[in-house]
Amino acid sequence: MGSNFFDLTGRIALVTGSSRGIGRELAAALADAGATVVLHGRDEARLAETAAEFTARYGEERIFSIAFDVTDAAAVAENIAKIEAEVGPLRILVNNAGIQHRVPLLELDVADWQRVLDTNLTSAFLVGREAARGMLERGEGKIINICSVQTDLARPTISAYTAAKGGLRNLTRAMTAEWAASGLQVNGIAPGYIHTEMTQKLVDDPDFNSWILGRTPAGRWGTVADLAGPAVWLASDGSNYVNGQTIFIDGGMTVVV
Ligand code: NDP
Repeated sequence: MGSNFFDLTGRIALVTGSSRGIGRELAAALADAGATVVLHGRDEARLAETAAEFTARYGEERIFSIAFDVTDAAAVAENIAKIEAEVGPLRILVNNAGIQHRVPLLELDVADWQRVLDTNLTSAFLVGREAARGMLERGEGKIINICSVQTDLARPTISAYTAAKGGLRNLTRAMTAEWAASGLQVNGIAPGYIHTEMTQKLVDDPDFNSWILGRTPAGRWGTVADLAGPAVWLASDGSNYVNGQTIFIDGGMTVVV
């Protein structure tokens, strides 16, 4: 191992849901550390816009993009195989794509429950399983599952999301139990409240905004930049003996009542 534990030069990373928001900044952080990055999303126009910006910044030989739905098992298998054939062996996977749906539990219908579970939890199983095939064969790989403070804490109206993110933390442990011995590390990052498109409505709601500021020991919303260092660390040789952990990056929210 060289003296720079955090150097990702030559490593290929897929970040799901990196056309915008947290995923986009995590992809930029990995690229800043030297990785070759595969950007991903569903909306092809948005993805192309992000890919053009990344290509201008990092060069076309280090930036690729691919659109597929992370809840579609066949599309996931086809596209992970395509990445490995056309870009090269995946070394890093960040399972970041996710959605929220706010509605009281009694009004939550089965289709919406299923959509939230599929996008936030089943997706990590599907993409993780396909990416792990090659990683296990090669005996090296890093998977980072993007959880949430809702992995540990519940709030009204987001029960499906809370169930999914709690499940994702345990999936992180289950993947570790099966794959760690073959050199594949799986860890989680659980962000607190981060200002992105997903949370814009909450930022704009004065009551919610002041609740967050009071509830967070650090006294502010998180930014996507706050997640970059931990993600690079978990993707790098600096974390080679870290297995199955979920790291809360939440300004202290989950350690106080
Ligand atoms: P955004 O809504 O800003 O971005 C979501 C990304 O996921 C987009 O790129 C979107 O692409 C993609 N995506 C959603 N559904 C699918 C799908 N079925 N198939 C493929 N891609 C999909 O979200 P954030 O950046 O805020 O959140 C990213 C992750 O971080 C999520 O897992 C979220 O739960 C988690 N998180 C966010 C927090 C926050 O405060 N923002 C706090 C804690 C966790 P497209 O538009 O093309 O569908």
